[in-house]
Amino acid sequence: MKRAIFIDRDGTIIKDKGYITNVSFVKLIPGAAQAINRFHSLGFIVVLVTNQSAVGRGYITEDELAKIHKTMEQLLSQEGSFLDAIYACPHHPDERCGCRKPEPGLIRKACKDFNINIAKSYIVGDQKADVELGKKEGMSSILVLTGHGKDTVKETSPDYVVNNILEAEKLIERIEGKDVVENR
Ligand SMILES: [Mg+2]
Ligand SMILES: [Zn+2]
Repeated sequence: MKRAIFIDRDGTIIKDKGYITNVSFVKLIPGAAQAINRFHSLGFIVVLVTNQSAVGRGYITEDELAKIHKTMEQLLSQEGSFLDAIYACPHHPDERCGCRKPEPGLIRKACKDFNINIAKSYIVGDQKADVELGKKEGMSSILVLTGHGKDTVKETSPDYVVNNILEAEKLIERIEGKDVVENR
């Protein structure tokens, strides 16, 4: 079975600018590409899980969301990095779907698709929904203080709190008792 790092999008690997409705708003958080590469070096797959109610609210179409994700992946690839998969919930909160975080739909689908051992996986995000999803599904939860993290830290109790995604990676190296040697 594989192990995964589930990562949130806005406020975790790209800058949180409210609803991202245009590709020009997509900016990586410094260190995101490097962190993802190092997760891969540790033997994890990296799966993005994101709530994108901008679709359900009618601010963007599914096609526009796909373009935004393509831009994000291009920015990562310019830094030699990639995501193994992207799972997005497009629903409006009022739809009460089973995939809007903290509901487990996205994670459960990924676990099925990639044969992931959830108990040995991690979730990294900046919001309460990320932390609570981790708790619900028995994963270690890491709150980053980028995005909404500084407010989130007052309202929930993650397993770990770090400044940003790159620090989350260093933390996981320590937990795993491994050092990543970068060959470049
Ligand atoms: Mg977020
Ligand atoms: Zn959904």
